[in-house]
Amino acid sequence: MEDCIFCKISSGQISSEILYRDDHVFVIRDIAPKAPTHLLVIPLSHVTRVADLETDDSPMIAAMFEAVTAMVLREDVGNTGYRLIINQGVDAGQVVDHLHMHILAGKKLPEMG
Ligand code: AMP
Repeated sequence: MEDCIFCKISSGQISSEILYRDDHVFVIRDIAPKAPTHLLVIPLSHVTRVADLETDDSPMIAAMFEAVTAMVLREDVGNTGYRLIINQGVDAGQVVDHLHMHILAGKKLPEMG
């Protein structure tokens, strides 16, 4: 999608270090990290909301979690733990309207509340 920052990164229009890429997703470091490890797992295709996902998207959904496993190994945070977050909509603070999963780790994360 034309004005989408994550689409521009995936197509190379905006340069960013791609830590991981497969046929469905890619991973970058968050530009404003909230933890020592703060990664974003992003589908290559432009999907805005979880509610827009369809049965055909199952391989992409699986790929998102495969990417999580790969990145947790790479960052070596499997033993200490990590948090996965998908913000959806205004109340959740979603600012980029392209589905993405945050991986947060590397410190004791604040309780949810
Ligand atoms: P969300 O609030 O879930 O929509 O999160 C969007 C995230 O994307 C925020 O944590 C931003 O810091 C991050 N972000 C925005 N632009 C970039 C970029 N160019 N490179 C890396 N992360 C970005």
